[in-house]
Amino acid sequence: MSVAILSDVHANIQALCAVLDDVAKVAPHASIWHCGDVVGYGASPNEVIGELQRVGASGVMGNHDLAALGDDIVEGFNEGARNAALWTREVLTAQSREWLRALPRVLEMGSTTLVHASLRDPIMEYVMDAATAEENLRGLSTPLLFHGHTHIPALWELRGDVAHLTAVGDAPIVLRGPSLVNAGSVGQPRDRDPRAAWLLWERDEDNAGLGRVTWRRVEYDIPSAQEAIDAAGLPNWLASRLAVGR
Ligand code: ZN
Repeated sequence: MSVAILSDVHANIQALCAVLDDVAKVAPHASIWHCGDVVGYGASPNEVIGELQRVGASGVMGNHDLAALGDDIVEGFNEGARNAALWTREVLTAQSREWLRALPRVLEMGSTTLVHASLRDPIMEYVMDAATAEENLRGLSTPLLFHGHTHIPALWELRGDVAHLTAVGDAPIVLRGPSLVNAGSVGQPRDRDPRAAWLLWERDEDNAGLGRVTWRRVEYDIPSAQEAIDAAGLPNWLASRLAVGR
């Protein structure tokens, strides 16, 4: 069994299509899950939702999805993010809104839980330090949690009673115990690598063990994504940051 986990697509259809091509190449039978922030920042929210619907993706609600649906959470956003959220509200079709509104905040799938941000605050908490990771790891009711929100690929594992941050690269990593697995971001990476990120989770046929994870990075047509952001009249730095991945 294999699953492609996509997070923080952020209305970037160019990045999503490149990622789906890569999924079709390396894991053609994979199910597709997403960890929210489907929209916001980017210029193609309806196209991204249409594509995720087409591939039958299951997933959860992110803070930017909530903002695009009209939630007050937008008041806490910085100016650029807020402008993008208000623009997204205007352009979302009724069908897109309906699809977004149906996203749960927490989704349990067998041995895994999917959230956007963290277990104890599925919408907003950033897991960036050991103390936060530890408290979330201790609260897990499934061995694995897949999430996003920071836009930075990461793996926190509970070893003994301590959260341990494992360096992630191109090589597969075998999961051995309770883990928070951050898929990184498809549409707006922030780890200084502008390539789109997605995560492949593979288990043996008999579903023994927790399986292994591989982070994939995919080049995509960044200039087209930037042009679309400019053409939509969205803040220019939302376009320029795509080229530097931060
Ligand atoms: Zn995000």
